[in-house]
Amino acid sequence: MNNLLRPFKISFIACFLSLPLLILAQSKDSGTIKNGTKTYIEVLPGNMPLVISIPHGGYLLPDEIPERPCTNCAKHPDIFTIEIGLALRNSIFKKTGYYPYVIINNLHRTRLDPNRNVSEAADGNKNAELAWTTFQSSIDSANAQVKKKFGKGLYIDLHGHRHDVKRTEIGYLLSSEELQMEDDLLNSEAFIEYSSIRHLITANAFKRSYADLVRGKFSLGSLLESMGYPCVPSPAHPFPKTDEPYFSGGYNTTRHGSSTGGTIDGIQIELDEMIRSDPKKREQLAVDLASVLVDYLKIYYFPEFNFSAH
Ligand SMILES: [Zn+2]
Repeated sequence: MNNLLRPFKISFIACFLSLPLLILAQSKDSGTIKNGTKTYIEVLPGNMPLVISIPHGGYLLPDEIPERPCTNCAKHPDIFTIEIGLALRNSIFKKTGYYPYVIINNLHRTRLDPNRNVSEAADGNKNAELAWTTFQSSIDSANAQVKKKFGKGLYIDLHGHRHDVKRTEIGYLLSSEELQMEDDLLNSEAFIEYSSIRHLITANAFKRSYADLVRGKFSLGSLLESMGYPCVPSPAHPFPKTDEPYFSGGYNTTRHGSSTGGTIDGIQIELDEMIRSDPKKREQLAVDLASVLVDYLKIYYFPEFNFSAH
């Protein structure tokens, strides 16, 4: 077992054994708003260099936060993404003995959209603004802990889309049009500069190019596709066609990835509705996505770590 992870793992498990319910129900103390017994923003502690946020899967419709008055803003929830994120967390623990950090918005998207700037996210409601701040600062804090303990890491913003083409859309802040460009162009500084995996592009041990990291044999899309989940971008689907809608990454991927600097890369994962709606497929996805994310961490970030040691 690696030395860097071990002390934290032991102390975490010691806490876990003595206070299992408290740890499982733990939420950030300061700034967390509560609605009855359910917190608006839920923070599950982690002990590995992986942070996952789930902004659009919430169900809570509290009176104190009415529907956002905006008419042109997206309000449709990403159904079952909280359930998938929690199952993913458990699968990663079963596989590795470590927990990723997980930050969940339990408010319905009609009330809060934490993948937007605060003015659009909360649309002027003070309680929603406080929930937004808690959500964002919880990711900031988890990323800061990862950076302090591990030096670098990966942040995933987990979503669900309802596009006609049923495949997983992976976002690195490259638009459809940009993904349609030739590799050489994509690998130029102009595009790398605002990539959500900018740190990985400049620091990966294999010296893989941006295009290779995005749609090459060992890209996240390729790893997921090899488990039976069609993805874009990937070697099989290097870019969305012109008439195919595609989510390239939003506020969270921009803010918490490495496009603005730092050593925590960010990737947006958009799961298709067909997988999310089927309980058996969700269950399998959690296991498969856990394998893929752990492999990704091993390949690109911590080849020396033995995540499978218990
Ligand atoms: Zn979403």
